[in-house]
Amino acid sequence: MNASAAWARLEPKFAYFRKRVAELEYEPARKNSFVAYTAERDSAYADQDGQRLLMMSGYSYLGLAGDERVVSAAKAAVDRYGTGNHGVRALAGSTPLHEELEAEVAKFAGREQALVFGSGYAVNTGVIGGLVGPGDTVFIDKYDHASIVDGCKLSGASVVRFRHNDVAHLERRLASTPDTGVRLVIVDSVYSMDGDIAPLVELRKVCDAHNALLMVDEAHALGVIGATGRGIEEHFDHEVKVDVKVGTLSKGIPSMGGWVAGPAELIQHLKYASRPFLFSAALGPAQAAAGLESLRILQREPWRVEFIQRESERFRGLLHAAGISTVDSETAVVPVIAGSDDAAYDFATISRKHGVIGLPVVTPAVPNDLARLRIAITARHTVSDIDFAADAFIKAARECRII
Ligand code: PMP
Repeated sequence: MNASAAWARLEPKFAYFRKRVAELEYEPARKNSFVAYTAERDSAYADQDGQRLLMMSGYSYLGLAGDERVVSAAKAAVDRYGTGNHGVRALAGSTPLHEELEAEVAKFAGREQALVFGSGYAVNTGVIGGLVGPGDTVFIDKYDHASIVDGCKLSGASVVRFRHNDVAHLERRLASTPDTGVRLVIVDSVYSMDGDIAPLVELRKVCDAHNALLMVDEAHALGVIGATGRGIEEHFDHEVKVDVKVGTLSKGIPSMGGWVAGPAELIQHLKYASRPFLFSAALGPAQAAAGLESLRILQREPWRVEFIQRESERFRGLLHAAGISTVDSETAVVPVIAGSDDAAYDFATISRKHGVIGLPVVTPAVPNDLARLRIAITARHTVSDIDFAADAFIKAARECRII
């Protein structure tokens, strides 16, 4: 078979995205994906096509992206260790920075030990694959992050899905599945599209009753929920504990990388059993140092967490008063509902005219008629930024006839 015939078999796959991209390119209202923003390093603003806009869809919840202290720590790490490592952690890739970061993560998470990976995606695939395999069963929430879904597929374990945040449904699933092998329930602490929180106390009870371990992904919870930003256990006043905690260093913590924290025995096991940890290069020195410095700042500056929680609540209140829905949001992630996909694209475009960036999330990432702008409140915003953004979204919603 010649090369072009081999390529031709890819054509149906190419055709699908060619059509989607053509829509994005030719309908100005849809030109929202893959836009290169020139963010101002230490501010909540970004430039797009020469216009200075308030960024309301960034993940940097703690407002530490571009923080002078974090940048200096990363620069010092590059000066000391260079730009990369000399391999995987198990061979030449470990530095004292990795060990310091792992100790800090473990302390912050309230666990014996922690392990850091190259990304949050690698953590989920690696931890799930390290814990379960054929003969075991994983129970996942319908809205769990894609990296959890992929980790389950790679692991070879049986996968059972339950309805979003529906503990009674999970219980029925647990009861109707043979009680053999490792049983692992995995949820996001905070769901990245709706900003709602997993019902931890009820989940723990059901897991205990059915011999299941409970793992949570704290990606959108770290620095965001709990009185001091320690995540879902703190949010529920430490009434219950989870078995395995994972998270990223790429959202509230403005770096790259991911972490898992738990008992020493679990971490030791993952060091040897987790393939993305064992077979992928160690986190870079700049990323490790930025993660470490940010975690320390978070603990020294509790105002950041308080600000995020207070201002998210106030922002939602302003939108609700104008008749805009934010579905079940109770965290810094605030979905501003537009309705159809087209309505969300228009809403984003008109919002930009009013000076704010709110990026649309459409089907299939969210259910039909619940397309939205995915807004994140951060400690980089000021109180007047939040007022300005709410006002801009309300004006745009009126112009788009969303309200
Ligand atoms: N878990 C959740 C809940 C996420 O939202 C994300 C990132 N979108 C990840 C894991 C993956 O993290 P990273 O981007 O650091 O690979």
